[in-house]
Amino acid sequence: MLNRILTTIENEKDELLAFAAELIRFQTPDPPAHNTKEIQEWLAARMQEIGMKTTSYDLYPEEPLLVGVSEPFGAQRTLIFNGHIDVAQVNPDEGWDIPPFEPRSREGYLYGRGAADMKAGVAAAFWAIKTVLQAGAPLRHNVMLQTVGGEEAGEHGSKMLLELGHRGDFAIIPEPTELRVCGQGGAVTLWVTIKSQKTYHDGMRARMIHAGGGVDGASAIEKMVKIITGMQELERAWAVTKSYPGMASGSNTINPAVIKGGRHPAFIADECALWYTIHFLPNEPLEAVKREVLDHLRRISEADPWLRHNPPEVIFGGSSMFRDRGEIFPASCVDVQNPCVEQLLQTFGEVLGRSPEVVIWPYVCDAGWFAEAGVPVVICGPGSLEEAHAVNEKIAIHQVVEAAKLYAAYILAFCAEDR
Ligand SMILES: [Zn+2]
Repeated sequence: MLNRILTTIENEKDELLAFAAELIRFQTPDPPAHNTKEIQEWLAARMQEIGMKTTSYDLYPEEPLLVGVSEPFGAQRTLIFNGHIDVAQVNPDEGWDIPPFEPRSREGYLYGRGAADMKAGVAAAFWAIKTVLQAGAPLRHNVMLQTVGGEEAGEHGSKMLLELGHRGDFAIIPEPTELRVCGQGGAVTLWVTIKSQKTYHDGMRARMIHAGGGVDGASAIEKMVKIITGMQELERAWAVTKSYPGMASGSNTINPAVIKGGRHPAFIADECALWYTIHFLPNEPLEAVKREVLDHLRRISEADPWLRHNPPEVIFGGSSMFRDRGEIFPASCVDVQNPCVEQLLQTFGEVLGRSPEVVIWPYVCDAGWFAEAGVPVVICGPGSLEEAHAVNEKIAIHQVVEAAKLYAAYILAFCAEDR
């Protein structure tokens, strides 16, 4: 059965590529986002054609989430494939060689926006399920394909599906890892806002900073310097004291990405806001990282006579970079002791004839939501990270075919076992 399925995938690789190209043709750049209704309806129809039951939910209007599942009678376990079908934005001045949403194949590559990140990965997962189902393989368990929009903006589609009960026993995220089996560090954004309760004229500055002035005021911009410096100390301490195997030392950064402050030269700055991106290690729970940062910010503030009484407002994360200017991507580890992971690594060697690499992906995706929900997860898909979001984005065709073969073989292995 396995050989027959692998041969079918090899023989039908042009159809697989055409399917991936079809996905690329749907223009789903994010931002502007909220443009995935058509592609999700198209995908739902394709899933139904191969006998999957589909359900969809509105994350936002024009941004549905789709779940397709093949449910053999009496099945107890569920294997999930989860991918996003929004793609990185395209700016008009980017100078593509081809129109980004008119995919082309050339010299072993498929070109187009979303080819690597991650429409070809979604195509490979669908194709694997399709080939297995159409071969009439005896499946004892469920195979689920979840496709979500909004991921590029940190929207919580996958989180919502998990909360709605679309969970499973193991999840594979076909993001571009060049088929390495990956965990990831986590990322969370943070707004730190310093506000003065009073607004002063620029002429009052002397009375705030010199002996005998008698005005207990401060520039929010200058106070933010303390926060910036203090957070650099924390970042350095993390880099020196924390590490995770397979992750480059010091990847757990605290980046002051955006700053806004002051209103006009005739005023003392009465407000300053700083937007951070915090990266943490694969084995660090989000809540623990938040506690540590909050505690550090509190200590910085308590060491300053003015901040002590005017502590900064601190807001972590958010559910959309556009709507509330924040995002959260929890971390995920690859547990090589987990039987599903073991089985995937074994299948990898059998089907692709080489040893799988288990590493940490230097980027973030929805895998962390599965880990947070207690669902074992790996990131493993075709394409390279350098291609993601790039001008003339492309993906190696042979890797898309390899991904489909690996997924199909793993579906068979996962669904054959009676446990
Ligand atoms: Zn992605």
